Amino acid sequence: MKIPFNKPFVAGKELYYMAQAVQNGHLSGDGPFTGRCSRWLEEHFNAKKVLLTHSCTAALEMAAILCDIQPGDEFIVPSYTFVSTANAFVLRGGVPVFVDIRPDTMNIDESLIEQAVTPRTRVIVPVHYAGVGCDMDVIMDIARRHRLLVVEDAAQGVCATYKERYLGTIGHLGCYSFHETKNLISGEGGALVINDERFLERAEVIREKGTNRSRFFRGMVDKYTWVDIGSSYIPSELIAAFLYAQLEQADRITGKRLAIWNRYYKELLPLQQAGVIRLPVELPECRHNAHMFHILLKDLATRSALIEFLKKRDIHPVFHYVPLHSAPKGMELGGGRFRLPVTDDCAGRLLRLPCYYELQPEEVDSICELIRAFFR
Ligand SMILES: *Cc1c(COP(=O)(O)O)cnc(C)c1O
Repeated sequence: MKIPFNKPFVAGKELYYMAQAVQNGHLSGDGPFTGRCSRWLEEHFNAKKVLLTHSCTAALEMAAILCDIQPGDEFIVPSYTFVSTANAFVLRGGVPVFVDIRPDTMNIDESLIEQAVTPRTRVIVPVHYAGVGCDMDVIMDIARRHRLLVVEDAAQGVCATYKERYLGTIGHLGCYSFHETKNLISGEGGALVINDERFLERAEVIREKGTNRSRFFRGMVDKYTWVDIGSSYIPSELIAAFLYAQLEQADRITGKRLAIWNRYYKELLPLQQAGVIRLPVELPECRHNAHMFHILLKDLATRSALIEFLKKRDIHPVFHYVPLHSAPKGMELGGGRFRLPVTDDCAGRLLRLPCYYELQPEEVDSICELIRAFFR
Protein backbone atom coordinates (compact mmCIF):
# COMPACT_ATOMS: atom_id res chain seq x y z
CA MET A 1 0.00 0.00 0.00
CA LYS A 2 1.73 3.15 -1.25
CA ILE A 3 0.75 6.41 0.41
CA PRO A 4 1.94 9.39 -1.63
CA PHE A 5 2.32 12.84 -0.14
CA ASN A 6 -0.46 14.28 -2.27
CA LYS A 7 -2.99 12.99 -4.78
CA PRO A 8 -5.10 15.12 -7.15
CA PHE A 9 -8.79 14.25 -7.00
CA VAL A 10 -12.20 14.77 -8.54
CA ALA A 11 -14.93 15.72 -6.07
CA GLY A 12 -18.06 16.02 -8.19
CA LYS A 13 -18.96 17.36 -11.60
CA GLU A 14 -15.47 18.36 -12.84
CA LEU A 15 -15.50 16.23 -16.02
CA TYR A 16 -19.15 16.98 -16.75
CA TYR A 17 -18.54 20.72 -16.55
CA MET A 18 -15.47 20.43 -18.77
CA ALA A 19 -17.59 18.68 -21.37
CA GLN A 20 -20.16 21.44 -20.97
CA ALA A 21 -17.47 24.06 -21.56
CA VAL A 22 -16.58 22.30 -24.82
CA GLN A 23 -20.25 22.30 -25.80
CA ASN A 24 -20.52 25.97 -24.94
CA GLY A 25 -18.00 26.58 -27.70
CA HIS A 26 -15.94 28.94 -25.53
CA LEU A 27 -12.60 27.53 -24.35
CA SER A 28 -10.45 30.63 -24.03
CA GLY A 29 -10.75 32.71 -20.88
CA ASP A 30 -13.57 34.65 -19.24
CA GLY A 31 -16.46 32.49 -20.40
CA PRO A 32 -19.43 31.42 -18.26
CA PHE A 33 -17.48 29.10 -15.91
CA THR A 34 -14.86 31.75 -15.16
CA GLY A 35 -17.70 34.09 -14.23
CA ARG A 36 -19.31 31.47 -12.00
CA CYS A 37 -16.01 30.84 -10.18
CA SER A 38 -15.37 34.54 -9.57
CA ARG A 39 -18.90 35.12 -8.30
CA TRP A 40 -18.69 32.05 -6.05
CA LEU A 41 -15.47 33.28 -4.47
CA GLU A 42 -16.78 36.84 -4.11
CA GLU A 43 -20.02 35.71 -2.48
CA HIS A 44 -18.62 33.04 -0.17
CA PHE A 45 -15.60 35.01 0.99
CA ASN A 46 -17.32 38.38 0.96
CA ALA A 47 -14.68 39.79 -1.41
CA LYS A 48 -15.08 42.96 -3.43
CA LYS A 49 -13.67 41.51 -6.64
CA VAL A 50 -12.01 38.22 -7.60
CA LEU A 51 -10.21 37.70 -10.91
CA LEU A 52 -9.29 34.14 -11.88
CA THR A 53 -5.66 33.66 -12.97
CA HIS A 54 -3.71 30.68 -14.27
CA SER A 55 -1.76 30.40 -11.00
CA CYS A 56 -1.11 32.04 -7.66
CA THR A 57 2.27 33.04 -9.12
CA ALA A 58 0.38 34.99 -11.79
CA ALA A 59 -1.80 36.64 -9.14
CA LEU A 60 1.31 37.65 -7.17
CA GLU A 61 2.88 39.08 -10.33
CA MET A 62 -0.26 41.09 -11.00
CA ALA A 63 -0.18 42.32 -7.40
CA ALA A 64 3.43 43.46 -7.76
CA ILE A 65 2.53 45.45 -10.88
CA LEU A 66 -0.50 46.95 -9.15
CA CYS A 67 1.69 47.98 -6.20
CA ASP A 68 3.81 49.81 -8.79
CA ILE A 69 7.05 48.31 -7.48
CA GLN A 70 10.03 50.20 -8.92
CA PRO A 71 13.67 49.05 -9.02
CA GLY A 72 15.11 49.36 -5.52
CA ASP A 73 11.77 49.33 -3.71
CA GLU A 74 11.76 47.03 -0.70
CA PHE A 75 9.15 44.48 0.20
CA ILE A 76 8.91 42.68 3.55
CA VAL A 77 8.46 38.94 3.28
CA PRO A 78 9.18 35.79 5.29
CA SER A 79 12.14 33.74 4.06
CA TYR A 80 10.20 30.57 4.87
CA THR A 81 7.92 30.59 1.81
CA PHE A 82 7.58 29.49 -1.78
CA VAL A 83 9.79 31.26 -4.35
CA SER A 84 6.90 32.98 -6.12
CA THR A 85 6.11 35.10 -3.06
CA ALA A 86 9.44 36.85 -3.61
CA ASN A 87 9.99 36.36 -7.34
CA ALA A 88 6.85 38.26 -8.32
CA PHE A 89 8.24 41.42 -6.69
CA VAL A 90 11.87 40.76 -7.72
CA LEU A 91 10.66 40.65 -11.33
CA ARG A 92 9.71 44.35 -10.96
CA GLY A 93 13.09 45.21 -9.43
CA GLY A 94 11.95 44.83 -5.83
CA VAL A 95 14.45 44.00 -3.09
CA PRO A 96 13.36 41.41 -0.52
CA VAL A 97 13.70 42.26 3.16
CA PHE A 98 13.39 38.95 4.95
CA VAL A 99 11.76 38.78 8.37
CA ASP A 100 11.87 35.79 10.71
CA ILE A 101 8.88 33.57 11.49
CA ARG A 102 7.05 32.68 14.70
CA PRO A 103 8.03 29.28 16.06
CA ASP A 104 4.39 28.31 16.71
CA THR A 105 2.71 28.92 13.32
CA MET A 106 5.72 29.38 11.01
CA ASN A 107 4.06 32.64 9.90
CA ILE A 108 5.93 35.94 9.66
CA ASP A 109 6.67 37.25 13.16
CA GLU A 110 4.52 40.39 13.28
CA SER A 111 6.57 41.79 16.17
CA LEU A 112 9.66 42.01 13.91
CA ILE A 113 8.02 43.73 10.94
CA GLU A 114 8.12 47.35 12.06
CA GLN A 115 11.89 47.38 12.65
CA ALA A 116 12.35 46.13 9.06
CA VAL A 117 10.52 49.13 7.58
CA THR A 118 12.75 51.71 5.81
CA PRO A 119 11.95 54.74 3.64
CA ARG A 120 12.16 52.39 0.63
CA THR A 121 9.59 49.89 1.91
CA ARG A 122 6.44 49.66 -0.24
CA VAL A 123 4.75 46.39 0.57
CA ILE A 124 4.34 43.74 3.26
CA VAL A 125 3.68 40.24 1.94
CA PRO A 126 2.43 37.95 4.73
CA VAL A 127 2.13 34.25 3.89
CA HIS A 128 -0.57 32.24 5.67
CA TYR A 129 1.42 29.06 6.21
CA ALA A 130 -0.65 25.87 6.27
CA GLY A 131 -3.82 27.97 6.07
CA VAL A 132 -3.33 29.48 9.53
CA GLY A 133 -3.79 33.24 9.40
CA CYS A 134 -0.97 35.70 10.12
CA ASP A 135 -1.73 38.38 12.72
CA MET A 136 -3.44 40.62 10.18
CA ASP A 137 -4.63 43.25 12.69
CA VAL A 138 -1.05 44.05 13.65
CA ILE A 139 0.16 43.90 10.04
CA MET A 140 -2.60 46.18 8.72
CA ASP A 141 -1.92 48.64 11.52
CA ILE A 142 1.80 48.83 10.66
CA ALA A 143 0.88 49.26 6.99
CA ARG A 144 -1.55 52.09 7.79
CA ARG A 145 0.95 53.96 9.93
CA HIS A 146 3.77 53.67 7.37
CA ARG A 147 1.55 53.99 4.28
CA LEU A 148 2.45 50.55 2.97
CA LEU A 149 0.43 48.12 0.91
CA VAL A 150 -0.33 44.57 2.05
CA VAL A 151 -0.47 41.66 -0.39
CA GLU A 152 -1.59 38.42 1.26
CA ASP A 153 -0.08 35.26 -0.12
CA ALA A 154 -3.11 33.13 0.70
CA ALA A 155 -2.09 30.33 -1.67
CA GLN A 156 -2.60 27.83 1.17
CA GLY A 157 -5.37 29.78 2.89
CA VAL A 158 -8.44 29.28 0.69
CA CYS A 159 -11.57 28.87 2.89
CA ALA A 160 -9.67 29.69 6.12
CA THR A 161 -10.43 32.72 8.30
CA TYR A 162 -8.80 35.18 10.68
CA LYS A 163 -11.24 36.78 13.15
CA GLU A 164 -14.14 35.59 10.96
CA ARG A 165 -12.71 37.24 7.82
CA TYR A 166 -11.55 35.07 4.95
CA LEU A 167 -7.81 34.99 4.33
CA GLY A 168 -6.99 36.90 1.15
CA THR A 169 -9.73 39.48 1.75
CA ILE A 170 -8.00 41.46 4.49
CA GLY A 171 -4.96 43.08 2.81
CA HIS A 172 -5.20 45.45 -0.15
CA LEU A 173 -4.75 42.45 -2.44
CA GLY A 174 -4.85 38.70 -1.88
CA CYS A 175 -3.61 35.73 -3.91
CA TYR A 176 -5.05 32.19 -4.04
CA SER A 177 -3.70 28.99 -5.55
CA PHE A 178 -5.66 26.09 -7.04
CA HIS A 179 -2.54 24.08 -7.84
CA GLU A 180 -3.05 20.34 -7.48
CA THR A 181 -1.21 20.35 -4.14
CA LYS A 182 -3.66 22.81 -2.57
CA ASN A 183 -7.08 22.17 -1.00
CA LEU A 184 -9.28 23.09 -3.97
CA ILE A 185 -7.63 22.30 -7.27
CA SER A 186 -7.75 22.80 -11.02
CA GLY A 187 -4.30 21.38 -11.82
CA GLU A 188 -2.77 24.81 -12.17
CA GLY A 189 -4.90 27.77 -11.17
CA GLY A 190 -5.20 30.82 -8.99
CA ALA A 191 -7.04 34.05 -8.29
CA LEU A 192 -6.33 37.65 -7.41
CA VAL A 193 -8.59 39.15 -4.74
CA ILE A 194 -8.98 42.91 -5.00
CA ASN A 195 -10.03 44.46 -1.72
CA ASP A 196 -9.12 48.06 -2.51
CA GLU A 197 -11.21 49.72 -5.22
CA ARG A 198 -8.38 51.79 -6.59
CA PHE A 199 -6.90 48.65 -8.18
CA LEU A 200 -10.06 47.38 -9.89
CA GLU A 201 -9.69 48.92 -13.32
CA ARG A 202 -5.94 48.49 -13.72
CA ALA A 203 -6.10 44.85 -12.58
CA GLU A 204 -8.42 43.99 -15.47
CA VAL A 205 -6.07 45.68 -17.92
CA ILE A 206 -2.93 43.95 -16.62
CA ARG A 207 -4.70 40.59 -16.77
CA GLU A 208 -5.78 41.23 -20.40
CA LYS A 209 -2.25 41.70 -21.80
CA GLY A 210 -2.30 45.42 -21.05
CA THR A 211 -5.43 46.11 -23.08
CA ASN A 212 -8.81 47.55 -22.15
CA ARG A 213 -10.57 44.51 -23.60
CA SER A 214 -12.72 43.98 -20.49
CA ARG A 215 -14.17 47.50 -20.83
CA PHE A 216 -14.72 46.82 -24.52
CA PHE A 217 -16.74 43.68 -23.70
CA ARG A 218 -18.88 45.70 -21.31
CA GLY A 219 -19.53 48.23 -24.08
CA MET A 220 -17.68 51.00 -22.26
CA VAL A 221 -15.26 51.71 -25.14
CA ASP A 222 -15.90 51.14 -28.87
CA LYS A 223 -12.60 49.40 -29.62
CA TYR A 224 -9.93 47.84 -27.47
CA THR A 225 -6.30 48.75 -27.51
CA TRP A 226 -2.94 48.66 -25.70
CA VAL A 227 -3.14 50.97 -22.69
CA ASP A 228 -0.67 49.64 -20.05
CA ILE A 229 1.86 46.91 -19.32
CA GLY A 230 0.37 43.49 -18.75
CA SER A 231 0.54 39.85 -19.66
CA SER A 232 -1.63 36.81 -20.26
CA TYR A 233 -2.87 35.87 -16.81
CA ILE A 234 -6.27 34.42 -17.74
CA PRO A 235 -7.03 30.70 -17.33
CA SER A 236 -8.88 28.69 -19.94
CA GLU A 237 -12.58 27.92 -19.45
CA LEU A 238 -11.62 24.23 -19.18
CA ILE A 239 -9.71 25.07 -16.01
CA ALA A 240 -12.55 27.21 -14.67
CA ALA A 241 -15.05 24.41 -15.41
CA PHE A 242 -12.97 21.97 -13.36
CA LEU A 243 -12.53 24.50 -10.59
CA TYR A 244 -16.22 25.36 -10.37
CA ALA A 245 -17.04 21.74 -9.57
CA GLN A 246 -14.50 21.88 -6.74
CA LEU A 247 -15.90 25.14 -5.39
CA GLU A 248 -19.36 23.56 -5.27
CA GLN A 249 -17.88 20.87 -3.00
CA ALA A 250 -15.66 23.21 -0.97
CA ASP A 251 -17.36 22.56 2.38
CA ARG A 252 -17.24 18.80 1.95
CA ILE A 253 -13.59 18.89 0.83
CA THR A 254 -12.56 21.08 3.76
CA GLY A 255 -14.55 18.90 6.14
CA LYS A 256 -12.83 15.78 4.91
CA ARG A 257 -9.38 17.37 5.30
CA LEU A 258 -10.23 18.59 8.79
CA ALA A 259 -11.22 15.05 9.78
CA ILE A 260 -7.83 13.78 8.56
CA TRP A 261 -6.05 16.61 10.36
CA ASN A 262 -7.87 15.97 13.64
CA ARG A 263 -7.18 12.25 13.42
CA TYR A 264 -3.46 12.87 12.97
CA TYR A 265 -3.56 15.25 15.93
CA LYS A 266 -5.27 12.78 18.23
CA GLU A 267 -3.10 9.85 17.17
CA LEU A 268 0.17 11.75 17.54
CA LEU A 269 -0.69 13.69 20.69
CA PRO A 270 1.02 11.11 22.97
CA LEU A 271 4.31 11.78 21.15
CA GLN A 272 3.95 15.49 21.75
CA GLN A 273 3.14 14.83 25.41
CA ALA A 274 6.29 12.72 25.59
CA GLY A 275 8.24 15.70 24.23
CA VAL A 276 9.36 13.80 21.12
CA ILE A 277 7.62 15.84 18.40
CA ARG A 278 5.68 19.08 18.18
CA LEU A 279 2.27 19.18 16.53
CA PRO A 280 0.82 22.13 14.56
CA VAL A 281 -0.41 24.98 16.76
CA GLU A 282 -3.98 26.27 16.46
CA LEU A 283 -4.86 29.88 17.29
CA PRO A 284 -8.25 30.89 18.74
CA GLU A 285 -8.65 33.77 16.24
CA CYS A 286 -7.96 31.54 13.22
CA ARG A 287 -10.12 28.87 11.63
CA HIS A 288 -7.66 26.91 9.52
CA ASN A 289 -8.50 24.80 6.49
CA ALA A 290 -6.41 21.69 7.23
CA HIS A 291 -4.18 22.50 4.30
CA MET A 292 -1.25 20.72 5.88
CA PHE A 293 -0.35 18.44 8.74
CA HIS A 294 3.22 19.12 9.77
CA ILE A 295 5.32 18.02 12.71
CA LEU A 296 8.54 19.42 14.13
CA LEU A 297 11.23 16.87 14.94
CA LYS A 298 14.11 17.28 17.38
CA ASP A 299 16.70 17.90 14.67
CA LEU A 300 17.61 17.38 11.02
CA ALA A 301 19.09 13.94 11.65
CA THR A 302 15.88 12.69 13.27
CA ARG A 303 13.88 14.07 10.36
CA SER A 304 16.08 12.37 7.76
CA ALA A 305 15.88 9.09 9.67
CA LEU A 306 12.09 9.28 9.96
CA ILE A 307 11.70 10.08 6.24
CA GLU A 308 13.91 7.10 5.42
CA PHE A 309 11.98 4.86 7.83
CA LEU A 310 8.58 5.80 6.35
CA LYS A 311 9.73 5.68 2.71
CA LYS A 312 10.95 2.10 3.22
CA ARG A 313 7.35 1.34 4.16
CA ASP A 314 6.06 3.20 1.07
CA ILE A 315 4.80 6.27 2.90
CA HIS A 316 6.05 9.53 1.45
CA PRO A 317 6.26 12.51 3.77
CA VAL A 318 8.16 15.59 2.56
CA PHE A 319 10.02 18.45 4.16
CA HIS A 320 9.36 21.98 2.98
CA TYR A 321 11.10 25.19 1.94
CA VAL A 322 14.78 25.89 1.67
CA PRO A 323 14.61 29.37 3.24
CA LEU A 324 14.80 31.96 0.47
CA HIS A 325 17.48 34.09 2.14
CA SER A 326 19.92 31.17 1.99
CA ALA A 327 19.00 29.96 -1.52
CA PRO A 328 21.39 30.92 -4.36
CA LYS A 329 19.14 33.66 -5.77
CA GLY A 330 18.29 34.94 -2.31
CA MET A 331 21.98 35.19 -1.45
CA GLU A 332 22.59 37.12 -4.67
CA LEU A 333 19.89 39.57 -3.56
CA GLY A 334 21.59 40.16 -0.22
CA GLY A 335 19.96 37.38 1.78
CA GLY A 336 23.18 36.78 3.68
CA ARG A 337 22.72 39.95 5.73
CA PHE A 338 19.61 38.65 7.51
CA ARG A 339 19.74 36.76 10.80
CA LEU A 340 16.71 34.50 10.89
CA PRO A 341 17.32 31.99 13.68
CA VAL A 342 13.78 30.59 13.91
CA THR A 343 13.58 30.13 10.14
CA ASP A 344 16.97 28.39 10.01
CA ASP A 345 16.10 26.17 12.93
CA CYS A 346 12.57 25.11 11.95
CA ALA A 347 13.26 24.64 8.23
CA GLY A 348 15.57 21.75 9.03
CA ARG A 349 13.15 20.03 11.42
CA LEU A 350 9.72 20.38 9.82
CA LEU A 351 8.09 17.41 8.15
CA ARG A 352 4.78 17.35 6.25
CA LEU A 353 2.71 14.16 6.42
CA PRO A 354 0.46 12.89 3.61
CA CYS A 355 -2.79 14.86 3.57
CA TYR A 356 -5.22 14.63 0.69
CA TYR A 357 -8.90 14.22 -0.06
CA GLU A 358 -8.83 10.47 -0.61
CA LEU A 359 -6.58 9.59 2.32
CA GLN A 360 -8.46 7.02 4.42
CA PRO A 361 -8.78 7.12 8.21
CA GLU A 362 -7.14 3.68 8.47
CA GLU A 363 -4.21 4.99 6.43
CA VAL A 364 -3.78 7.89 8.85
CA ASP A 365 -3.83 5.35 11.67
CA SER A 366 -1.12 3.20 10.09
CA ILE A 367 1.08 6.24 9.38
CA CYS A 368 0.77 7.30 13.02
CA GLU A 369 1.41 3.77 14.25
CA LEU A 370 4.62 3.67 12.20
CA ILE A 371 5.73 7.05 13.55
CA ARG A 372 5.12 5.81 17.09
CA ALA A 373 7.05 2.64 16.26
CA PHE A 374 9.96 4.75 14.94
CA PHE A 375 10.28 6.45 18.32
CA ARG A 376 9.96 3.24 20.38
C1 LIG B 1 1.62 27.03 -3.84
C2 LIG B 1 2.11 28.33 -3.40
C3 LIG B 1 2.37 29.39 -4.29
C4 LIG B 1 2.32 29.23 -5.78
O1 LIG B 1 1.10 28.82 -6.28
P1 LIG B 1 0.96 28.46 -7.83
O2 LIG B 1 -0.52 28.42 -8.04
O3 LIG B 1 1.60 27.12 -8.01
O4 LIG B 1 1.62 29.51 -8.63
C5 LIG B 1 2.75 30.61 -3.78
N1 LIG B 1 2.90 30.81 -2.46
C6 LIG B 1 2.68 29.81 -1.57
C7 LIG B 1 2.84 30.10 -0.11
C8 LIG B 1 2.30 28.55 -2.00
O5 LIG B 1 2.10 27.57 -1.11
